[in-house]
Amino acid sequence: MKNKILIANRGEIAVRIIRAAKELGYETVAVYSTADQQSLHVKLADEAICIGGSHSKDSYLNMNNILSAAISTGCNAIHPGYGFLAENSEFVEMVERCNIAFIGPSSKSISLIGDKAAARTFAKAIGIPIIEGSEGILNDAQEGLKIAKRIGYPVMIKASSGGGGRGISIVRSDEEFLSSFERTSLEAETSFGDASLYIERFIESPKHIEIQIIADSKGNYVHLFERDCSMQRRNQKMIEEAPSTILNDILRRKICMAAIKLAKSIHYVNAGTLEFLVDSKGNFYFIEMNTRIQVEHPVTEAITGLDLVKEQIKIAYGKELSFKQRDVKVNGHAIECRINAEDAMHGFTPTPGKITNILFPGGMGVRIDTHIYPGYEVPPFYDSLLAKLVVHAPTRREAIKKMRIALEQFVIEGISTNIEYQYLIMHNPDFIKGQYDTGFIARFNTLVEAETNE
Ligand code: ADP
Ligand code: ADP
Ligand code: MG
Repeated sequence: MKNKILIANRGEIAVRIIRAAKELGYETVAVYSTADQQSLHVKLADEAICIGGSHSKDSYLNMNNILSAAISTGCNAIHPGYGFLAENSEFVEMVERCNIAFIGPSSKSISLIGDKAAARTFAKAIGIPIIEGSEGILNDAQEGLKIAKRIGYPVMIKASSGGGGRGISIVRSDEEFLSSFERTSLEAETSFGDASLYIERFIESPKHIEIQIIADSKGNYVHLFERDCSMQRRNQKMIEEAPSTILNDILRRKICMAAIKLAKSIHYVNAGTLEFLVDSKGNFYFIEMNTRIQVEHPVTEAITGLDLVKEQIKIAYGKELSFKQRDVKVNGHAIECRINAEDAMHGFTPTPGKITNILFPGGMGVRIDTHIYPGYEVPPFYDSLLAKLVVHAPTRREAIKKMRIALEQFVIEGISTNIEYQYLIMHNPDFIKGQYDTGFIARFNTLVEAETNE
């Protein structure tokens, strides 16, 4: 029987997974919502099945429909991509019970480490530094208030099931605490179906450094070094690069070893990412583990020359990793810009609508992962990512130059995007020097707004 994979996702990541499966000679089945009938992943897969209405809860979050689609088309594996059901242990358990391979970790690993508050407790127990805060989830607002008083303001209230930068608030005083708690809890309930919250001390101007790891079912663990994802707007990544400009070899080694230690201790299998914050003194703290492929994985692929999605698929089918830690070498520098359907020069409002024309950049060391094409209508129901533009060059300076040219030559007509905004960042002196932290964009916006209002 030929291997056949159902892709339980949409957009650029569905297209990315279809390509990897095809390269391995496997068949693919796309699923789509009624709003995505004209989507590229539907056209590129061998088969496609409609799984429900436009709203995610009716389609891409509809576990029964997705499983029925997999069974009726004879799939023996499911790739979840990122977002949607990728980190839902209930779904993964259902997949396991149907005897279908889940291209990701086991449901057990996800329940163990997918909950952010539980992950903190776990990391602490094995000696990995975490940010001072609550032990597990908070029982109520009063308990939270007590902890906030003890560790001192500002603090962050965070949703235990949170993701994509949502369900996080900064609180600066006792007075703000109770209302912030209620608001964040409500947001967590509506966005993630889980109102549980925990607290962390707020770290001023940190760097977001994450480690990509990959493990097979034979007990081989390899890290693929770091990605610097400090360029964020509202706790959501916008630009990612590797290697990071702030790590020296000693700190890099320490963080990579912490990541491997944590992954090993839970017998983690498949690709995963351990996220850390690094403060201005070079202290690092584990914040969460993403038990899935990440948006910015191409940056790591560029510098290591490895195809992470193909490796993920091979691991799920029981194959051993084809490389050892000593084989992984960092080559050059890579940068990714997320190109979004949002009017970045005017408050980042979403801009769904018809794309009338596109010109893609190209050339040596330029990669575009996307699902858009001329005439494509961007639906208003899903996230605003249109394309990932990734450049790879021998040095960071050359990568920045290449990115500037690629952005200049990237034309999307019909809707507003953040291409021009990304172009401005590529010319910012602090970015060029590699001196930026997670507060950069908030500060940069004030400058851009002042200029556009002139
Ligand atoms: P990454 O962690 O891969 O860098 P993001 O944080 O931007 O990427 O998340 C990628 C997508 O997945 C976004 O659309 C985001 O909303 C979604 N997502 C991430 N985590 C969760 C989660 N826990 N629940 C629901 N959606 C999530
Ligand atoms: P998500 O699950 O949404 O990805 P994370 O816990 O990974 O949430 O945090 C997202 C971002 O929010 C981080 O990259 C960082 O910029 C910011 N952040 C999270 N926790 C803290 C903290 N304790 N102090 C300062 N910034 C934080
Ligand atoms: Mg995160």
